[in-house]
Amino acid sequence: MTANARFSLMIHGGAGPFAHVTDASAAARYIDGARAVVEQGRAMLSAGASALDTVEACAALLEDDPAFNAGRGSVLNELGAIEMDAAIMDGATLAAGAVAGVHNIANPIRLARRVMQDTEHLLLIADGAMRFAEQCGIAQVADDALVTPDAIAEFEAYQRSRGESPRFGTIGAVARDVYGTLAAATSTGGMTGKRVGRVGDSPIVGAGVYADNASCAVSATGRGEDFMRIVMAHTIAAHIEFAGMDAAGATQAGIERLRKRTQGQGGVIVIDHMGRCASAHTTARMVCGWIEHGGKTQIRF
Ligand code: ASP
Repeated sequence: MTANARFSLMIHGGAGPFAHVTDASAAARYIDGARAVVEQGRAMLSAGASALDTVEACAALLEDDPAFNAGRGSVLNELGAIEMDAAIMDGATLAAGAVAGVHNIANPIRLARRVMQDTEHLLLIADGAMRFAEQCGIAQVADDALVTPDAIAEFEAYQRSRGESPRFGTIGAVARDVYGTLAAATSTGGMTGKRVGRVGDSPIVGAGVYADNASCAVSATGRGEDFMRIVMAHTIAAHIEFAGMDAAGATQAGIERLRKRTQGQGGVIVIDHMGRCASAHTTARMVCGWIEHGGKTQIRF
């Protein structure tokens, strides 16, 4: 196997009904966005970048794209404000960093990486996370720069519908680098109309994110409460590590469990320790893109 054939990458831009996507031009926004990020990830991994640096960079690009619910484009909570969650994990060491309930930060995934690298902790929340961001010299941005017209329109629709069918969606990236190490990153604005202080699965290791070289790297998206109850990301990893499944089998088993035990809504992307890619979702659609073993870019929406 050549070095390039050893890397794999998957990214997602959320799962959900995407009811507003009724034609090819509406779909193109997500498809083109996903493709651009996969190509940037390919350039990094094929040049020998680590899985960790690659998932961080891909997640940051998805956070910057207003089409996706993370960073710029985050959905709004019950008060019409932004509260974002993010996490990153290194499959070689099981080191992880996460933040929850942050605002005024363009790239929460970069703050999560700093938590992992520069503190003895794993998860920092709200004021504490913001204080740490300041200490790290991470530039603050006005939340107005992160709020998009789409997020406002959705919040207003949510209020009119009295809380029915809140939009979710999230972003994530998983990778296996040419050295065989896995990493995962997940970042989100959460769910439209969520209570102030609500934290979903995205920054919870084992629920919305997981990476272990012994099994796989996972990033999840969907109604976070469903994923936390069955510890979704780790459930998939356990199927690989303890039952010897591959990415496809473990992903199916995880999604079946999600469906049966919590009637869960959402999806996952998975790369196993052999670099095999898999994804599955219980929602109408999920945006994802991938490269398996250095092969051609695939996009599905
Ligand atoms: N899982 C995220 C949350 O519950 C939302 C999403 O993936 O859309 O906060």
